[in-house]
Amino acid sequence: MTTHNEAQACDAIIIGGGPAGSCAGAILAEYGHRTLILEREKFPRFHIGESLIPFTFHPLERIGMIPKMRASAFVKKYSVTFVQPDGRRSQPFYFFTRYDRETVAQTWQVLRSEFDQMLLDNAREKGAEVREETTVKRLLMDGDRVVGVEATDKSGRTYEVRAPITLDCSGKEAFTSNRNGWRMNDPYLNKIAVWTYYKDSKRGVGIDEGDTTVAYVPDKGWFWHIPQHNGMTSVGVVAEGKYLTRGGVKDLKAIFHREVEENLWIKDRLSVGRSTGDYYILSEYSRHSRYGAAPGLVLVGDAFAFLDPVFSSGVMLALKSGHLVGETIHAGLLAGDLSPARFATYCASMRQGVENMRKLVYAFYDPAFSFREVIQRYPDAAGEITDCLSGDVNKDFSQLWRRFREFVPLPDDLPYGEPLDSAVSRGV
Ligand SMILES: Cc1cc2nc3c(=O)[nH]c(=O)nc-3n(C[C@H](O)[C@H](O)[C@H](O)COP(=O)(O)OP(=O)(O)OC[C@H]3O[C@@H](n4cnc5c(N)ncnc54)[C@H](O)[C@@H]3O)c2cc1C
Repeated sequence: MTTHNEAQACDAIIIGGGPAGSCAGAILAEYGHRTLILEREKFPRFHIGESLIPFTFHPLERIGMIPKMRASAFVKKYSVTFVQPDGRRSQPFYFFTRYDRETVAQTWQVLRSEFDQMLLDNAREKGAEVREETTVKRLLMDGDRVVGVEATDKSGRTYEVRAPITLDCSGKEAFTSNRNGWRMNDPYLNKIAVWTYYKDSKRGVGIDEGDTTVAYVPDKGWFWHIPQHNGMTSVGVVAEGKYLTRGGVKDLKAIFHREVEENLWIKDRLSVGRSTGDYYILSEYSRHSRYGAAPGLVLVGDAFAFLDPVFSSGVMLALKSGHLVGETIHAGLLAGDLSPARFATYCASMRQGVENMRKLVYAFYDPAFSFREVIQRYPDAAGEITDCLSGDVNKDFSQLWRRFREFVPLPDDLPYGEPLDSAVSRGV
């Protein structure tokens, strides 16, 4: 196969046009930097990850998406609620008890094919060049520095593009951490998800219509229940594979409906309406990249870290990291310095957010833990729990974690995510 070399045509190459790539791309292009987004799929494309949380507001606002979100058909979301297997519901954690109701506290349940298309179009409108159906195959290296990528388009043409910085926004593919041996799994968070879509099943009314419900499966896992527009509801179960396939059951429909019987609230919600008939499965191993940046390279969104989706934090972290990295690269391009050390603040900020969310996730999966008991002992903890559930993850939650530790152990922070240069020079 022939490889063509393109003259250095851009300031930043972005691998992947999901929320992380589109957000970073919009910011860089708006500043006038020549920005190229290479996306493997043809949009609109299916993607899981449909429930937003309040702290998506700031990056969406930064890239001019709020008016488009408000004009969209996406269902408004004000809260998250937890339901026991016997059907008992917690009080909804309404985000407007902590944040402004007109802005941050109202978020959305989206259809990712539509939402991601809107984000990618937005990056285009700001001036980013987007090439769909183009797969990045390889990073181009000059010594230990990434200097661009080799990509193949849908006709099979392979070409090289060069830029002073490449952003890995490849999501689940985790392009660079998989290839460089930087992928670190999170051993207790290895789950699989099985889900389907219902048309016209039961849902709440008024401000509760868009409530995300997390419904427990006894000691084992949980359901998500996410009401969407056009009367559709996304509903899925997450648990360990061994549990979901117990007794040798492999058929996705059979797995799903067996678990529906394990939660009375979910069973009631799905007692009317009908499944679309399509069932999906995904293994979702929480993972972290050993490094967050290296010479000529920075990792963004799921490519940097992926956390169990129980608290719907993924798109927020992807947009937030796209936002931060876009600003950091802009400053670096102006200063003529894109060394890994310039990404130290970005990496530390993302790790702090991931670690706070991760503690909440570990507590959630511990059978000895209950939000109700924590709040009974410390009524004022409800506020901080709502903050973390909202995605306000760069706060100091040390008091909350001390309180949680009276009930269950929580994991220590992982020593991952620093830029390669600074970590190596400190002997980490
Ligand atoms: C079961 C499940 C449920 C979830 N639920 C939620 C939820 O309710 N709310 C939430 O916020 N998050 C949720 N998430 C997480 C969410 O899906 C992700 O965190 C989010 O999509 C990350 O965005 P991203 O831009 O980093 O990656 P992605 O959205 O995955 O985008 C990456 C893009 O890169 C492209 N790409 C990959 N490799 C290449 C390549 N080599 N060349 C070119 N292009 C490439 C892909 O085609 C893709 O379009 C869930 C995840 C799972 C598994």
